[in-house]
Amino acid sequence: MITGKNYIGNSLSANGNTTYKTFNPKTNTENEHIYTEATSEEILMAVDLASEAFNTYRTISGVKKATFLNTIADEILALDDTLIQTYMSESGLPEGRAKGERGRTIGQLRTFAKLLEEGSWVEARIDPAQPNREPNPRVDLRKMLVPIGPIVVFGASNFPLAFSTAGGDTASALASGCPVIVKSHPMHAGTGELVASAIAKAAQKTGMPNGVFSNLNSSGIEVGQELVSHQKIKGVGFTGSIRGGRALLDLAAKRKEPIPVFAEMGSINPVVLLPKALETKGKSWAKTYASSITLGTGQFCTNPGLILGIKSDALTKFIETVSAEIIQIKPQCMLHPNIHKAYTTNKSIVRSQKNVKTVANIESAVADNYAQQAVASVDGKTFLQNSSLHEEVFGPFSLVVQCENSDELEEIIANLEGQLTGTIISEENEVATYQHIVNALSQRVGRILFNGVPTGVEVAPAMLHGGPYPASTDSRFTAVGRDAIKRWVRPFSYQDWPNELLPDELKNENPLQIIRLVNNQETKEAL
Ligand code: NAP
Repeated sequence: MITGKNYIGNSLSANGNTTYKTFNPKTNTENEHIYTEATSEEILMAVDLASEAFNTYRTISGVKKATFLNTIADEILALDDTLIQTYMSESGLPEGRAKGERGRTIGQLRTFAKLLEEGSWVEARIDPAQPNREPNPRVDLRKMLVPIGPIVVFGASNFPLAFSTAGGDTASALASGCPVIVKSHPMHAGTGELVASAIAKAAQKTGMPNGVFSNLNSSGIEVGQELVSHQKIKGVGFTGSIRGGRALLDLAAKRKEPIPVFAEMGSINPVVLLPKALETKGKSWAKTYASSITLGTGQFCTNPGLILGIKSDALTKFIETVSAEIIQIKPQCMLHPNIHKAYTTNKSIVRSQKNVKTVANIESAVADNYAQQAVASVDGKTFLQNSSLHEEVFGPFSLVVQCENSDELEEIIANLEGQLTGTIISEENEVATYQHIVNALSQRVGRILFNGVPTGVEVAPAMLHGGPYPASTDSRFTAVGRDAIKRWVRPFSYQDWPNELLPDELKNENPLQIIRLVNNQETKEAL
């Protein structure tokens, strides 16, 4: 049931006076529930509870934490159609997408549960004492990864489930042993509250400490800023715009004790069309890209916003085909009037720049909040000189850049900001002659694709979802896949610590039967 209140640990609370509603972009009307923004006192209560809960939660076994995560997944599934209908009414996204995203969310929780059950993820290293070593005896050293403390999670508007309340950031932080406070996204506060209720239920059912999870409502940026500024908060997970992520990074850096901010932000995901591929399969790639640009109404961080090629008849034909194809696709609803407004404004800004030519645009009227997808084209020199053309237009839009030659193409790639993905479209063997382009692209992106589309982020151990700034604030980590857990831990060493007082992961007997590095050898053997 949606109450519109904040979850402060296991209790519901609504002491504030600021209220708001969510919006159904399809019907262009407000939804019925009223949400009450968290007050400063409620924020403090949630932070204090999380900090107390950390003392217990960090010591709870991996197997018990796994049961907690699996129970969250079960409780989310038990929300059944209420969750799906709420999701749809707050996002305008279709039922299939809602169910797919729920599946992804459940899958992420269960993946982390499996990781905890197995246990080796803590990277235990043991260098036993050598009392007889000459000239000096060696001390006993044992190291493992430990959680850093309460984490604040900010979800994005475009993934109400998989990158929100119980999304990848929350699942990985809870798995690591860190309590989580979610700053609920105002555009899907109802979906958020339902998922929060599932997490609170699961926490109580599995005996987790009160405060291991809280969900705070907010209609503006203040709640998030208070949370990030609080000294008891030890890390931040953010998915959203570059502006929002950067503001939180700066805020965290200004604290007396700066903390890590793992912000996954926007990207234009450059796609490089190599000449032979354009000549032989240009038409087919144009059709594929018309679909990719409009998938999910273009509201993906991996949307291909920039297509790069070398001037040729084949590139001209590609532009004609992608344009003809994209206007055949039925316009779709965007997530919210504000997102639609930003899309329309940003698209107009790009289209009005000098030397930019609009090659496709839906001119006919569409329903409120529906996107009129577009493609524009510009020459390489102008693109290089005008940095406003490098910015993300969040929605179904792509800019095709026609470069003079491969040197200009390389220069453009080298001058791009950091990106989540980069794609090379090539005929077999063609790529070998464009190694300089591949090298340049590799240095700007977190994931490089060969003959594909960047939309669609598989949840798998080998996935890297992140990239050089501003794709993310720390390119050494991923927000998707099991390694996402590494954002919330720090290495910690014990020296000459009595065996019975060590955590199970580091005890001589290896009671958890995990893989450990002992004397530089991987083993499950006891010492
Ligand atoms: P957003 O406007 O940045 O909002 C994200 C969250 O951050 C919201 O809860 C927002 O609160 C909060 N926020 C924004 N600015 C803030 C500030 N200065 N201080 C404190 N809190 C702040 O992003 P969005 O529109 O929801 O999401 C779309 C963007 O996310 C796109 O750029 C897309 O590319 C990106 N995205 C990235 C990924 C990825 O994994 N890299 C995935 C999905 C989406 P309020 O709404 O209350 O202001």
